Amino acid sequence: MRLVLLGAPGSGKGTQAKQLIERYNIPQISTGDLLRAAVGAGTELGLKAKAAMDAGELVSDEIVLGMIADRLKEADAQNGFILDGFPRNTSQAESLDALLNELNKPLDTALLIDVEFDSLMKRLTGRLTCGKCGAIFNRYTNPPKQEGVCDKCGSDDLVHRADDNEETVGNRLKVYQEQTEPLIAYYKSQGKLKSVSGEGEIAEIFAKITEVLG
Ligand code: AMP
Repeated sequence: MRLVLLGAPGSGKGTQAKQLIERYNIPQISTGDLLRAAVGAGTELGLKAKAAMDAGELVSDEIVLGMIADRLKEADAQNGFILDGFPRNTSQAESLDALLNELNKPLDTALLIDVEFDSLMKRLTGRLTCGKCGAIFNRYTNPPKQEGVCDKCGSDDLVHRADDNEETVGNRLKVYQEQTEPLIAYYKSQGKLKSVSGEGEIAEIFAKITEVLG
């Protein structure tokens, strides 16, 4: 299955992608994770991306497209993939279509996880990510069983993402509305859009997702 996850920052794309990996045995490819790894490693690409990420703006298409083209060539992506956080604007979506058509592997579905705008701020400012295994928690809506400790791997490295502060979050949501939301119409016109409500329990949302994906 070749899948794009669409949804605002904080809609739960990453959380649901982690469960979809296990169900369908295909990798999650998150441009945000790849970029954070590059920033953490201090690579040239990471240095170029950091200022835009700290401000909640999009990193240049050129950087992101290069990263995606390389990642899609890796062995684990040959039977399908879940794209999380990419594409983020119409030009990236068109480039992705061109790339996948060249490989003769067009997208199957763009799945929208739909969340009321008002709950996104709380979800994002409360988010905690395990620095060791990548599990995602939320201080308000999905706290770890023991404060500061990851339920999945036991690490005490639960971190609040640098760009999950109120100011940057506001800008990320604005960028989503202006640049990413038009992709809903883009995939609808291709007949590839499916949508689920992203409100409620994580397990309930996952059940709805697997139902629409079939
Ligand atoms: P995310 O983890 O998907 O919320 O992404 C975090 C930040 O990484 C975004 O606010 C952007 O600065 C950058 N980013 C992630 N994916 C993309 C993309 N497809 N295009 C441009 N910038 C991106």
